[in-house]
Amino acid sequence: MKVKTIVSDYYSCNSYVVSEGASAVIVDVGFDSAPIFDYAKAEGLVIEAVLLTHGHPDHVFKAKDFSDRGIKVYITEEDYQMPKNNFFGLKLTNEDFMLFEPVVLESDRLELGGLTVDIIKTPGHTKGGVCFIIGDYLFSGDTLFRKGVGRTDLYGGCEKTLRNTIKNILAIQHDYVIMPGHGESTAISYEKQHNYFVR
Ligand SMILES: [Zn+2]
Repeated sequence: MKVKTIVSDYYSCNSYVVSEGASAVIVDVGFDSAPIFDYAKAEGLVIEAVLLTHGHPDHVFKAKDFSDRGIKVYITEEDYQMPKNNFFGLKLTNEDFMLFEPVVLESDRLELGGLTVDIIKTPGHTKGGVCFIIGDYLFSGDTLFRKGVGRTDLYGGCEKTLRNTIKNILAIQHDYVIMPGHGESTAISYEKQHNYFVR
């Protein structure tokens, strides 16, 4: 399995291209989709699906480019529906950027091409936020960062809920590599030691 990180210029959102053989899934789509399509083409990959960790604009903005090509874009119902008109002062509404055709994420496992994706509910940063586990990687969106956690002051955020979510993630026995929505990758074992939020 291979994981390629593509960082969006605007808001520095990490998009990940996870591939096994010729099958690929994309985790989060920021403000650039072209580098993702270019990479997939260069590597001869078939994009099976887009998986959205949560509904914030910097993680979903170009998802429409994928659903327009008939690629399934998974997001939880709660995060698809949440209002987006007060995001860092952006004068955006749901009509401006939730333009993609969503596939509601309900199950806790998806089989996509040669990839098995386990989904864990991780509310706190948003109500419908999720993490994806693929192979030895845990894609944490804005829930858990290297030595940090997501903010809870935006719509649907809740510190108490996030605290519980982080506790549950760090209790996972397997030492997954954590691939966050922004910044560098980390690992469960490293965050157990160094994340201020769990001290
Ligand atoms: Zn976010």
